[in-house]
Amino acid sequence: MIKPSPASAPARRVPVVVIGAGPAGLTVANVLRAAGVGCVVLETESRAFVERRPRAGFIEEWAVRALRERGLADRLVERAQAHSACEFRVDGARHRFRYAELTGERHFVYPQPLLVTDLVREYADVRGGDIRFGVRDVALHGLDGDRPSVLYTDPATGDRRRVDCEFVAGCDGARGVTRSCVTPGRGTVARHDYGVGWLALLAEAPPSSDCVVFGVHPRGFAAHMARGPEVTRYYLEVAPGEDPERWSHDRVWSELHARLAVAGAPALTEGRLIEKRVLDMHSYVVEPMTYGRLFLAGDSAHLVAPIAAKGMNLALHDALLLADALVAYRGTGDDRGLRDYSAACLRRVWEYQEFSQWLAELLHGPSSGDPFRAGSARARLRRILESPAAAATFAASYIGKDTAS
Ligand SMILES: Cc1cc2nc3c(=O)[nH]c(=O)nc-3n(C[C@H](O)[C@H](O)[C@H](O)COP(=O)(O)OP(=O)(O)OC[C@H]3O[C@@H](n4cnc5c(N)ncnc54)[C@H](O)[C@@H]3O)c2cc1C
Repeated sequence: MIKPSPASAPARRVPVVVIGAGPAGLTVANVLRAAGVGCVVLETESRAFVERRPRAGFIEEWAVRALRERGLADRLVERAQAHSACEFRVDGARHRFRYAELTGERHFVYPQPLLVTDLVREYADVRGGDIRFGVRDVALHGLDGDRPSVLYTDPATGDRRRVDCEFVAGCDGARGVTRSCVTPGRGTVARHDYGVGWLALLAEAPPSSDCVVFGVHPRGFAAHMARGPEVTRYYLEVAPGEDPERWSHDRVWSELHARLAVAGAPALTEGRLIEKRVLDMHSYVVEPMTYGRLFLAGDSAHLVAPIAAKGMNLALHDALLLADALVAYRGTGDDRGLRDYSAACLRRVWEYQEFSQWLAELLHGPSSGDPFRAGSARARLRRILESPAAAATFAASYIGKDTAS
């Protein structure tokens, strides 16, 4: 069937169309709504699906503060556990790294589905915002003019709908459509492949430590990260492209025990595995993060392999900058925030990418099979454990301390 052209589809008009209801899109929408800037959120999945999708869990304290200032973190602050240290397990020894003592900042452990649930509730149920779930075939037009439009298929009727707007916020994640409006031709994508896979696991088991545990082991890296009182995320380094089905329950737990075991540490509490998938560890950055009236935010603009738990934090950073810039422009015509948006985001994006790459080498070097990389990785770890200056630098990057604040 031939879809109607933008001109022939029935149109409505709204200042901002937000594409994607993840942490980035929902944050943009909430801030706009609170400031009285009209917007509509278009999301391909159902509400139930986005509120259950398990992913991130560690939110940096600056981000919690920023969400709280906008009335978006009440439940988070009430329910999240704060973490102030991480632990490296290497060569049978435990090394606790107390980053909060060096930075004054902590992580808040709050699973992404809970944050998304809170943000949807606040936007749609409390603030009465317009959000369309289950839309299909989102397409963008006229981004280089001052009246762009977004088309989508209404899931209930199958009709093609058109929304005319002033701005489009492209918050549709790594698999969305908005990035393709910036690249190729109008921007670049810088990509880095780590050459390893991570078996990402969620276990119905209480955490076995009060902090993140990094197991640096010749058999491969492993990690333990709390997600809540009854759920824990684990990672195991595997070959890229590995079939997760090759990892049975028994094989997973036996490998986790082997890679995370050290004398004096409590044994891991085992539980049913409720998620098991292989991530081919890679990162990318789109530059610039804008094209005409389209502004990318979050994973649509940059993917950070989850080595240092940075992706959702960056998505929130972009979203807050973008929302504030749109509010300023709509309020007073001040377009400085919009003009500076891409550069301001990319500064932090590249800092987080560089740190993730640095940490990845520390974690993967010893299992790389390359004695040079293994020796360098051990020196890297020794330096942050023994040098106060190196420890302070590591701590600030790990917690994402906002150097501007
Ligand atoms: C296993 C794993 C663990 C992670 N752990 C951490 C962590 O501990 N800390 C951290 O900070 N980050 C972590 N991350 C990264 C984090 O989950 C992402 O960076 C974050 O979800 C990005 O938010 P977003 O809003 O940009 O994109 P998303 O959360 O991907 O949201 C995009 C939304 O757009 C929708 N969409 C897609 N295409 C379209 C379309 N064409 N039209 C309309 N809607 C569309 C999607 O359905 C989705 O709801 C992890 C990621 C993974 C995979």
